[in-house]
Amino acid sequence: MDISKKLVETHSLTKEECLELFSLFNNSEVMEYLKEEAVKVRKQYYGTKVFTRGLIEFTNYCKNNCYYCGIRRDNRNVERYRLSEEEILACCANGEKLGFRTFVLQGGEDPWYTQERIADIVKKIKKAHPDCAITLSVGEKSKEIYKAWKEAGADRYLLRHETANTSHYHMLHPESMHLSNRKQCLYDLKELGYQVGAGFMVGSPGQTWEHLAEDLVFLQELQPQMVGIGPFIPHHDTKFAKEEAGSVDLTLKLLSVLRLLLPKVLLPATTALGTLDPLGREKGLSAGANVVMPNLSPVENRKQYELYDNKICTGDEAAKCKNCLSARVRSAGYELVEDRGDYIG
Ligand code: SAM
Repeated sequence: MDISKKLVETHSLTKEECLELFSLFNNSEVMEYLKEEAVKVRKQYYGTKVFTRGLIEFTNYCKNNCYYCGIRRDNRNVERYRLSEEEILACCANGEKLGFRTFVLQGGEDPWYTQERIADIVKKIKKAHPDCAITLSVGEKSKEIYKAWKEAGADRYLLRHETANTSHYHMLHPESMHLSNRKQCLYDLKELGYQVGAGFMVGSPGQTWEHLAEDLVFLQELQPQMVGIGPFIPHHDTKFAKEEAGSVDLTLKLLSVLRLLLPKVLLPATTALGTLDPLGREKGLSAGANVVMPNLSPVENRKQYELYDNKICTGDEAAKCKNCLSARVRSAGYELVEDRGDYIG
């Protein structure tokens, strides 16, 4: 069977088949077909709905030293900040007024935010906003800690696996970090009943077609409810400062492939995509994405959460960000909805 048809009909690909499909990525007829089929599948499950996630970047302290990341521990040029509990709750209150029904608490791996402190914040947000979902994205923790946060009320967890290939993982991270642990965290989170998001950067330094094929195989194994992919973008204060950014075009193609591999997956059109191309997020939606993640963090801290250079939306109030995104979503032929946007089982 033709490999693109196989993907459309069976929603699965082996590593070898992924590589065969990648060899057709320059064939515009095949790619047009895959994009159309991806949109069909997306509309079958989610219609024209696009879900929003209000992103609260609550700390840029990090104990890790990921080579690609602007807020890595050894970057002495970052002015570090932590939002207080009151500030986080104020972001949520503002968000609910603006129509958000999911809050994503994302940060570096900041030891100041202990198990208890995070659990406390989660409980307070749930109490104030019982109709909203809470997503955590604070890195690798023990299963016990994840369990405590789930019991406190967290619904979802985002932890990109970054790359499913061990030697590539070591090109991107210091020796103290291990892919096996990251994968274990993802399986633990799933077992605990979280809706789980994995994902990777497209075009990260050293990435090969083989690595991408392994990413797609791993995602089929894990069966996450969400997948975050966006182009790698260099940050001037990292050792990858002079590396080339990932490709918008390749990210869009992979979004369509992911929609077909995991038909019901929640797939964001990421800020990184919008940073490299002014219409990147609209193009992401047209390729099969169904989620956008506007920023709810206080404007005065936005610049300090610079994971990569030229990150967009660092100067606008949340309301403005939401209106801007709403117009972008409409222009792509979709509608932003006030909904928790849970995975449909
Ligand atoms: N600390 C948490 C973790 O490790 O999962 C969450 C925060 S981390 C900064 C969020 C994501 O940002 C990472 O998973 C990574 O894929 C992405 N990121 C970091 N640096 C990037 C860069 N230079 N270009 C594109 N994405 C980047």
